[in-house]
Amino acid sequence: MGLVDRFGRVHDDLRISVTDRCNLRCSYCMPVEPVWYPHEHLLHYEEIAQLVRLFARQGIRKLRVTGGEPLVRRDLPLLIGMLRGIDGIEDFSLTTNGILLGRFAADLAAAGLSRVNVSLDTLDHERFRRITRRDRLDDVLAGLDAAVRFGLSPVKVNAVLLRGENEDELETLVEHSRERGWELRLIEYMPLENDGSWRPERVVRGDELRRRISRRWPIEPDPDGDPHAPATRWRFTDGRGRIGFIDSISDPFCSSCSRLRLTCDGILRACLYDDVECDLKTPLRNGAGEEELLRRIRDTVERKGQGGALQILEQRHVRPQSRTMHQIGG
Ligand code: SAM
Ligand code: SF4
Repeated sequence: MGLVDRFGRVHDDLRISVTDRCNLRCSYCMPVEPVWYPHEHLLHYEEIAQLVRLFARQGIRKLRVTGGEPLVRRDLPLLIGMLRGIDGIEDFSLTTNGILLGRFAADLAAAGLSRVNVSLDTLDHERFRRITRRDRLDDVLAGLDAAVRFGLSPVKVNAVLLRGENEDELETLVEHSRERGWELRLIEYMPLENDGSWRPERVVRGDELRRRISRRWPIEPDPDGDPHAPATRWRFTDGRGRIGFIDSISDPFCSSCSRLRLTCDGILRACLYDDVECDLKTPLRNGAGEEELLRRIRDTVERKGQGGALQILEQRHVRPQSRTMHQIGG
């Protein structure tokens, strides 16, 4: 039982992208002028819920709603309410850039969302504008406050540090996060952008970050961390919080990968980096039964490769051919 692949990896984690659209244009994620999927290509909320019920019966336990920017999709709290009660789902979260959280945090909490990850790479207005190509830092900070106020906690803050761009903000981000009670997660820059600008030299590695942090705030591995989670969790030895590292380039976690991704246009993807995927929307709309959908899901899991991220450093760049990050769902 369950979604087990040829390498014995059990898949219990599903990331659902609800849109490819976004109110930011982060340079490492999407082009300046993206071409969006037409609305009619997107899965409807009822279709998403139908698929999640099916996945949950196959052992999916963790659910994350993402995008693009999920909060630009109309009535997102409605979808949250539909997914909340699905049997078997134990962990239910949302990844957002936070801009619209000020408006929606209360509704999301009322709809049954447990917690949020908010992406924030810098606390400097000018840098924020340069990295995201929009001037919305104050909205993100207001969104974070709202998330804390409405109990969408623990609030985790995702940051990507880029060499020569915002790497010097590590200490400021750590200090600020500890003061506000956010759990910071530092993600290594991955080659999922669209303009081919990724270079290994631009990745700030997790081991370097841990060394720098330890100089000011001693940290140690958190014994309660989940060994299957992509983020390794550490804790500050002074007892003031935790911090996570996603060393996706320097220490890829492919061998314990438990994730599947459903894109907003209804494609199931087995891995960020290889293009093994399968259309679930067309059969769903053509009235396929559960058995047919399950056959497709199992076949995709079967075809999943050993590890798309394993060769990145040697090959210097292995961006998937077909989609950038905002189209897959981060
Ligand atoms: N718009 C939402 C947000 O920004 O949180 C959700 C989607 S975004 C694609 C999800 C996460 O992917 C963000 O934390 C973002 O920083 C991260 N991300 C995007 N492109 C990336 C890249 N090339 N390398 C590492 N992380 C990336
Ligand atoms: Fe939008 Fe998130 Fe991509 Fe930034 S990282 S462009 S906020 S989808």
